[in-house]
Amino acid sequence: MQTAHSIEEMKHLRSKCRGSVGFVPTMGYLHEGHLELVSQAKNENYVAVVSIFVNPTQFAPHEDFKAYPRDLDRDLTLLESAGTDIVFIPGDKDMYPADYDTWVEVKGITRHLEGRSRPTHFQGVTTVCSKLFNIVEPNKAYFGQKDAQQALVIQKMVADLNMNLEVIVAPTIREKDGLAMSSRNVYLTPEERKSAPVLYKALQLARDMHAKGESDAILIKNAMTKLISSVPAARIDYISIADIGTLQEVNDIRGRVLVSLAVKLGKPRLVDNIILG
Ligand code: AMP
Repeated sequence: MQTAHSIEEMKHLRSKCRGSVGFVPTMGYLHEGHLELVSQAKNENYVAVVSIFVNPTQFAPHEDFKAYPRDLDRDLTLLESAGTDIVFIPGDKDMYPADYDTWVEVKGITRHLEGRSRPTHFQGVTTVCSKLFNIVEPNKAYFGQKDAQQALVIQKMVADLNMNLEVIVAPTIREKDGLAMSSRNVYLTPEERKSAPVLYKALQLARDMHAKGESDAILIKNAMTKLISSVPAARIDYISIADIGTLQEVNDIRGRVLVSLAVKLGKPRLVDNIILG
């Protein structure tokens, strides 16, 4: 496994790659969800590149950029055993020098869900992914369904800007009790960790109601709200049932919909989703 600590080093290693390159952008503090993306990238390409970069521009000033968990030594050990070929670990100043002034913005679908709660978030995500794609020049880039809106936004950016790569979206990896794996789960107290599977239980409730023929989105969202509210520490940010293409809320579930939610449980804000239909 080779490690590039600067953009220049990464470009140099890229210039020596032969065959297709699969790329997994991450913010580190890796878990099984990340490693599944890496093994898919490895299986489908000659070279697997992983970046570790806690991107400051996707955090609002009041969010957890400074406190975001980091453990580079552990990450490198995990990536080496997952068969990663190149790890790219750029510095903040290398990615955003003092005179940095260019932003990439996807409109439309970023107005909803995460974009509504975190208005500057997706501009940071699309800007950093554009930069990473230009540096790494991947043939395929791998994203997790866990961040469903992020994956849709990246697919839209790649299509709209005619970027020369394929975006692959891989299923959400969960703990045994259903909790979606996330670097932020480490913030949960033991008590909160015990309650955290309520997010997935609420999504399963939506799936069950829909399977039994319920198509009223409001009724389903009310039932999900009631279930999550049974956990006193849970603060619901949103529960959404939205059209999978536009991310606009639907009242009557007909085609494919994204059922998603964001819930603050103690310190961390957890997100999860499923697709119905
Ligand atoms: P992050 O390090 O949180 O920015 O995540 C890096 C990539 O891993 C993103 O594409 C995430 O959607 C994906 N990811 C994070 N958690 C999971 C999970 N539990 N299952 C599948 N993919 C995930």
